[in-house]
Amino acid sequence: MTESISAGKMTDWNGEQIALFQEQLRNGMALWDLPFTPSLEQIYTAYAIKLVQTNAHMNLTAITDPAGVAEKHFVDSLSPFLLRLPQLNGSLRIADVGTGAGFPGLPLAIARPQWNCVLMDSLQKRCRFLSDIVAEQGLKNVEVLHGRAEDIGQQPQRREKFNLVFSRAVARLPLLLELCLPLVEVGGFFIALKGSDGPAEVEESRKALSILGGVIDHVKELRLPSSQDGRTLIVVRKTKGTPKTYPRKAGTPSRNPLI
Ligand code: SAM
Repeated sequence: MTESISAGKMTDWNGEQIALFQEQLRNGMALWDLPFTPSLEQIYTAYAIKLVQTNAHMNLTAITDPAGVAEKHFVDSLSPFLLRLPQLNGSLRIADVGTGAGFPGLPLAIARPQWNCVLMDSLQKRCRFLSDIVAEQGLKNVEVLHGRAEDIGQQPQRREKFNLVFSRAVARLPLLLELCLPLVEVGGFFIALKGSDGPAEVEESRKALSILGGVIDHVKELRLPSSQDGRTLIVVRKTKGTPKTYPRKAGTPSRNPLI
């Protein structure tokens, strides 16, 4: 395997770099007390290598160094398991809105084969990248769906059909709530993976929560195990049905967010 680096971006990993990725992943998961198996290691490694290789000709991620990919993509994606919500152990229908290169939905789906996971993104080429990994790794519990959340949230077969919806790095919370809460069943949860400014976004979201039918269940602040970068998990519980007019048509929520 060849290693090539241009302008700081890695486009492939050599054996040493693969070992570094695996070590960082193993250590991060151990520090967070998350179970790690040889099968998880094998699938996460194949996924990470393909991410970095594909990123050479498709814009998927700015993070390509082995330690960064392990901690800032994989370990970070698994942070919802720190919530110890009893619901996380069940057999669930989950969605990841604006999944991009698959974060957080794909690492979560790989760790929980009993979940049925729909990874959604509006960019077709990112969906094709994800479909290739799903096929190559034989992941029977993952569906990749190309489309805008505003449109998917109005489809009767998807609307209010998920027990749990995740999203990372897609939009600030008031807009994100309009994209995600319509997909959550009443009684289900939306979990936003945010940076250290997450608590401030909660303050901006009162109006969106009250219109869309959600309440803040709790907010957990944490640090990534190695870099100590701050993260916030915002857990929203859906308490009543979302009015039919939401999500509004594609583009409107971002132009005119509910603030
Ligand atoms: N969640 C991934 C992560 O944390 O690495 C990707 C984050 S990337 C910055 C944002 C992604 O959201 C992009 O892949 C973009 O295509 C997608 N996206 C933005 N708005 C969307 C919408 N309205 N519906 C579906 N996907 C959307």
